[in-house]
Amino acid sequence: MRTIGLVGGMSWHSTMTYYRLLNEAVARELGGHSSARIVLQSLDFAEIRECQVSGDWQRAERLLTAAALACQNGGADVVAICTNLMHKVAPGVESSLNVPLLHIADAVAAEADRRGWTRLGILGAGWTMREDFYATRLARHGKVAVVPGVDDCDLVDRVIFDELTKGVIREESRQAYLRVIERLAAAGAQAVVLACTEIGLLIEPGASPLPMIDSAEVHANELGRLAVAVTT
Ligand code: GLU
Repeated sequence: MRTIGLVGGMSWHSTMTYYRLLNEAVARELGGHSSARIVLQSLDFAEIRECQVSGDWQRAERLLTAAALACQNGGADVVAICTNLMHKVAPGVESSLNVPLLHIADAVAAEADRRGWTRLGILGAGWTMREDFYATRLARHGKVAVVPGVDDCDLVDRVIFDELTKGVIREESRQAYLRVIERLAAAGAQAVVLACTEIGLLIEPGASPLPMIDSAEVHANELGRLAVAVTT
């Protein structure tokens, strides 16, 4: 079995989801008492948030690179960054590693391929929705990102950082997100990507007006597949 390196803590609420799903995937595949071999580097999210707010992405890249290297040195055969937004610095992190980095947007695109969707609504942190690092990665796989309007972007971002990354789940925010998803559907999205790893804690699949791709779920499941895949 391959060892999976997780760069987590962004926030720890969604890293728990990764830990659970990865173990469940391996148990499903191998049965018995099997569980995933994981090296976890869980960062202090306050430090990462400080980098985001001050725009110090170089420092953020250094922090994530050090954590990814610690995973590699701890025996990880593949490394994953357990957040969408921090993939903004993924190219720098990846170039420091000798083992592969599994990009979250590649896992999202693979799921969209399986389901036959091309136009994907994006719900995530402001930078994930507004900048092009995420949309460009999806475009490599022929996917078109449908981004919420300005006010909706502000609302989605505010709920992520004032509530979800602090473990706060509010019904009012759930309803507000569902209305944003309705507007993404009206703008032509075939499905919505929960492009923030905590949003799956707020919205259940059945409640959404559009089918959903939960980035944390598909990323963790892909890691589970890699953990047990037979090499040739
Ligand atoms: N977990 C969130 C994401 O997937 C945002 C938290 C962060 O990394 O800033 O983008």
